[in-house]
Amino acid sequence: MPQQNQVDVKEIEAILSEILSSRVPPVARCRLLSSGLSSGHTLDVTEELGGVKACLACGNCIDICPVLVREPHRRRKTQQRTSMALESLVPEDCDRCYACILVCPQVDTTIKYYIVNNYMIEVMSRLEGRIGSEGEPDLDLFLEEALSQV
Ligand code: SF4
Ligand code: SF4
Repeated sequence: MPQQNQVDVKEIEAILSEILSSRVPPVARCRLLSSGLSSGHTLDVTEELGGVKACLACGNCIDICPVLVREPHRRRKTQQRTSMALESLVPEDCDRCYACILVCPQVDTTIKYYIVNNYMIEVMSRLEGRIGSEGEPDLDLFLEEALSQV
């Protein structure tokens, strides 16, 4: 849903690197760095929504998060499906898999491509040791699903 003129990742590389290195879910901040809704994707409403960066409450980031699959009791704490809910359910122990960013319709494709090209090899090798562990979601499949939406 981002606009045709999307953020130039070179201009936000430093802040993006800081966001991606923290253990707090990164999707909301990547959404705010993005271009916002494209007018081609808005309903026929009188209000001008182009450029709006709000969370659409689609829940994609919650559905894809491996922390919430591994620990479903966390997910039961709220029915909300927003990035704010994700941050309350995964406060500071994010796996830094970046799947939530890749599936968010409000994050610019430029940011997604940057992450795929610069971070995915490191993510796979960092999480590799956990693949196949008991209670661990299939991280290969998670990333495959997230990447298929880029
Ligand atoms: S999907 Fe990955 S990056 Fe996003 S909050 Fe969950 S563990 Fe963190
Ligand atoms: S994936 Fe959906 S719910 Fe999550 S931050 Fe993006 S718009 Fe909001």
